[in-house]
Amino acid sequence: MIHKILPVGPLQCNCSIIGDESTHEAMVIDPGDDIEDIVAIIDQNKLRVKQIVITHAHIDHVGGAMKLRARTGAPILLNQNDYALLKMLDVQASWLGMKPPGKVEVEAGLAHDETLRAGSLSANVLHTPGHTEGSVCLYFPTEKMLIAGDTLFARSIGRTDLPGGSFEKIMHSLHDRVLALPDDTAVIPGHGPVTTIGEEREENPFLKG
Ligand SMILES: [Zn+2]
Repeated sequence: MIHKILPVGPLQCNCSIIGDESTHEAMVIDPGDDIEDIVAIIDQNKLRVKQIVITHAHIDHVGGAMKLRARTGAPILLNQNDYALLKMLDVQASWLGMKPPGKVEVEAGLAHDETLRAGSLSANVLHTPGHTEGSVCLYFPTEKMLIAGDTLFARSIGRTDLPGGSFEKIMHSLHDRVLALPDDTAVIPGHGPVTTIGEEREENPFLKG
């Protein structure tokens, strides 16, 4: 597997570029910004992007999606429970003092338990509402890896005080879907350093006890 993690934009969202080494088919997850840097990695590795996957419709995760779609022709995928939030990108931009990215068009939804493929790689979609209603994580069982979006961070969890957030729901998502994964699963959060399910089960103050 080819996997590059690139922190993008002012909030340093972790964009993941994941490709199959033999077929060079790839998916890009959360291209929030800095599309030229993402395209440079795609070109260096001779990847063909099959899908652009958005873990949730916050501007720092989705802001560059249309530019990347224009460069790659790949469809944009987002859980339908975040479509309303996607229509508020200009409002989100004003919260952060950012330039509004314009309208983002989604080609398809992302349902719980759906499988996404790029070459021989496959990822299971886990719907994990709480940070937003339509937040998802992507679990790659063969690679023992979870792309967690803003649901789980190293020693922290996603904030739930923004519109569409729910502390009760994020705790259910974490306990029922995220902590159900094996301890040796690598976790790539939406921001900050990588961790593992086992470390977070032991050390994360929101998950202990
Ligand atoms: Zn977020």
